[in-house]
Amino acid sequence: MTGELTLDRWIRDRAVVTPERVTIDCEGEATTYAELDRVSERVAAGLARAGAGVGSRVAVLAGNRPETVAVLFACAKLGAMLLPLNVRLAAPELAYQLDDSDAGWLLVGADYDAAADAALDAADTAVPQRVRLSWGALDELGSDEPLPVGVAPGDHDPLLLVYTSGTTGRPKGALLTHANCFWTNISLDRTIDVTGRDVVLQVLPQFHVGGWNVQPLLAWWKGATVVLETAFDAGRVLDLVPRKGVTTMMGVPALYRFLAQHERFADADLSSLRQAVVGGAPMPEALLETYLDRGVALVQGYGLTEAAPNVLGLPPEDAPRKVGYAGKPYLHVDVALRDTATGERLDGPATGERLDGPATGELLVRGPNVFPGYWRVPDATAAAVDADGWLATGDVAERDDEGFYRIRDRTKDMYVSGGENVYPAEVEAVLDANPAVADVAVVGVPDDRWGEAGLAAVVPAPGAAPDPDDLRAHCATSLARFKVPRDVVLVDELPYSSMNKVMKGELARRPGARA
Ligand code: ATP
Repeated sequence: MTGELTLDRWIRDRAVVTPERVTIDCEGEATTYAELDRVSERVAAGLARAGAGVGSRVAVLAGNRPETVAVLFACAKLGAMLLPLNVRLAAPELAYQLDDSDAGWLLVGADYDAAADAALDAADTAVPQRVRLSWGALDELGSDEPLPVGVAPGDHDPLLLVYTSGTTGRPKGALLTHANCFWTNISLDRTIDVTGRDVVLQVLPQFHVGGWNVQPLLAWWKGATVVLETAFDAGRVLDLVPRKGVTTMMGVPALYRFLAQHERFADADLSSLRQAVVGGAPMPEALLETYLDRGVALVQGYGLTEAAPNVLGLPPEDAPRKVGYAGKPYLHVDVALRDTATGERLDGPATGERLDGPATGELLVRGPNVFPGYWRVPDATAAAVDADGWLATGDVAERDDEGFYRIRDRTKDMYVSGGENVYPAEVEAVLDANPAVADVAVVGVPDDRWGEAGLAAVVPAPGAAPDPDDLRAHCATSLARFKVPRDVVLVDELPYSSMNKVMKGELARRPGARA
């Protein structure tokens, strides 16, 4: 059965209604809705001819590019999945995702040949067909033949496969369906509205779900123009806002911090900007105040990949008075709180005993935006989403008497460094494999530049005297740079609780865990 909510419609219908409007403006190169539709149609047909269809995996390794948008819509037309690879990952990490997903195609951006070579060298089984990510190569890959009859996505076919690490085990691929993407954009639209007249600045990477579902896809549904930056550069952003008349943008706290620290921030013309969305990590209140002083109310959003990602958003009109809040649930999204000690659900629509007043607990999410599960890891899916459809976020939220939520803490062992999640378990496993290490614990500690950074407390193996810099170098061989601990400190022993768990809170508070 073909779908009704599928995203192939978005570009096909736009190509009829607003064919000549610019959909993407990337470094001065403009692509219209009609062109994007035409290229994505040809690429879909070419991929189909080469054997792709519903459920195929198409990986992309590139900085932000308009061609990737064409490939996404080609996948949407085919029912295939786009696997956007995080360009910050090390070769073994990329190889793992290629192997695990069994991707049939790997599209490689111009600057990423060496990274692709290294990843393919490190891969065990992956033999994807390698294609250059350029308009010319897409043209060659494409075909003018119509898509074969019956090739069409269903609402619940996955469109995106996005890998997330985890508190245990290897990274997992979160499947996000057409329906997940449809609803999360509809939800976002209620709070963070985008119109066809907006100029949306995209600096968020396309390898995060936010690079699709926090404004860009909504913008393309509405017929707006997205100014796409291949990578983030603070000075360029400050120039682009007045030059392109940017009206709305989104980013993580570290990005807004870099902008605010730029020498031209105080004099930059930000008057066209009617809203700026921030999410993905806790936002320091002082930074929110800095933007308010410049007349820009940063609109907070909270989400996670498994919820496609939009869960909470702060309505723009409340942003100035609710500084520090992540907002209220988006339309169609149910949230509930559960007691972190007992695991009992405190409230939420399903219990029929909704609490309106202030409460604190682990945030649970349910709705059409919640993912169907992880790629080929049913145990992990069952651990994440319960039988009633509630996704456990691992984040502790506090609700106030007006129904606004503020993210207070995490129950999951994770920290966010410059907008990228780091799961200490992954870093600990790498350090543990070093013969000079007897025991190790990694915690996130405050960092002026990145929000949080890693601190590894290492107990040396008997007779060993490892050099902290060597241990950091050891991490860098198999982990992305943002996961390499900023500090490695040698300790005699780790603080264990009576339950034999490392008391990470205590570790993070020790002297040496400097900001
Ligand atoms: P993406 O970066 O892919 O757009 P994301 O950051 O929303 O998505 P994940 O990478 O899955 O999604 O990270 C989700 C986690 O980030 C949340 O569980 C939470 O711990 C943290 N997080 C996201 N938004 C906020 C926020 N506004 N305040 C505090 N923590 C946040």
